[in-house]
Amino acid sequence: MLAYRLFEDGPRLVNDAPVPEPGEGQVLVKVAGSGACHSDLHVIEATAAGNCFFKPPYTLGHESTGWVEAVGAGVQRVQPGDKVAVYCAIGCGKCRMCLAGFESYCMRSRPVNALGLGYDGGMAEYMLVPVERYLIPLGDLDPVEAAPLTDAGMTPYHAINRSRPLLTPDATVVVMGIGGLGHLALQILRSTSAVRVIAIDVSDDKLALAKELGADATVRAGESALRETMELMHGEQADVVLDFVGIQSTIDLGRKLVRPGGDFTIVGLGGGTMSYGQGRIAVGARVFTPYFGGIGEMRELLALAARGGIAAHVTRYPLERVVEAYQALHDGAIEGRAVICPSN
Ligand SMILES: [Zn+2]
Ligand SMILES: [Zn+2]
Repeated sequence: MLAYRLFEDGPRLVNDAPVPEPGEGQVLVKVAGSGACHSDLHVIEATAAGNCFFKPPYTLGHESTGWVEAVGAGVQRVQPGDKVAVYCAIGCGKCRMCLAGFESYCMRSRPVNALGLGYDGGMAEYMLVPVERYLIPLGDLDPVEAAPLTDAGMTPYHAINRSRPLLTPDATVVVMGIGGLGHLALQILRSTSAVRVIAIDVSDDKLALAKELGADATVRAGESALRETMELMHGEQADVVLDFVGIQSTIDLGRKLVRPGGDFTIVGLGGGTMSYGQGRIAVGARVFTPYFGGIGEMRELLALAARGGIAAHVTRYPLERVVEAYQALHDGAIEGRAVICPSN
């Protein structure tokens, strides 16, 4: 089958990947959609430099949906033809965090690999899901439009949930980076809270999208972003700052924007450093470093999408054009998410 695989020297589309056979407890999924995530670009770069946690070769694609094609012995909850979303973080399944559904916070696996990050993911005609508990039924959702919800949606949903007690109607949340994750974060904030939202991005197109998705105000990233954002908040800092970029300039802006006792959540894997020292961040502020989310949260988020609370903006690419999709992502030319569709 066709698969977009990451090797030590870079990713390549191959046409001779074997179709996996589901063993006991495993499920073979025919892939409908698999989102191209900005973290893949960081992973590709780190792998080439020889300092990535995830060991190649493997098939990329860590946000995927599809149809159950075949099941191994002992699989009980899904059957061929079921339309499913795939939870991708692979924990041990036995520790306290895994038992709570937070396999991305597995206490025994280091690093926590995922389908598409260390293990074969969804940028192929078929993918092997190691355990049926990673599959959540999609109901009436379009499988291609739902694919980004499994990472670009679930990851911000989880990040926002960690700050839920701060999201009072008089609170302000700053969202930095209106890409795949950020454009869904805005919608999640809109549909699950009454907070005021300020969006920051380098691109005017993305700020226009942020307005369309319900941001109360937008600020262009750059030298004057700190001053402009503080003016919009009348000199008081934000209750929560969500950084979906994670480069040095966004981390430095974010830590200055968060209020005493507020939350600064760094989601983007942009390679920036958050160093601690007195005065580097407001007193009482908490810094979070979320990684994916819980299986239960993915289920909640799919329910929110089914009720019309959120919808990913997707650009579809056949698997044959996957290289073009990553190039567009690299160039900042994707609105929302590029989804690779191997079954088209
Ligand atoms: Zn991702
Ligand atoms: Zn575990």
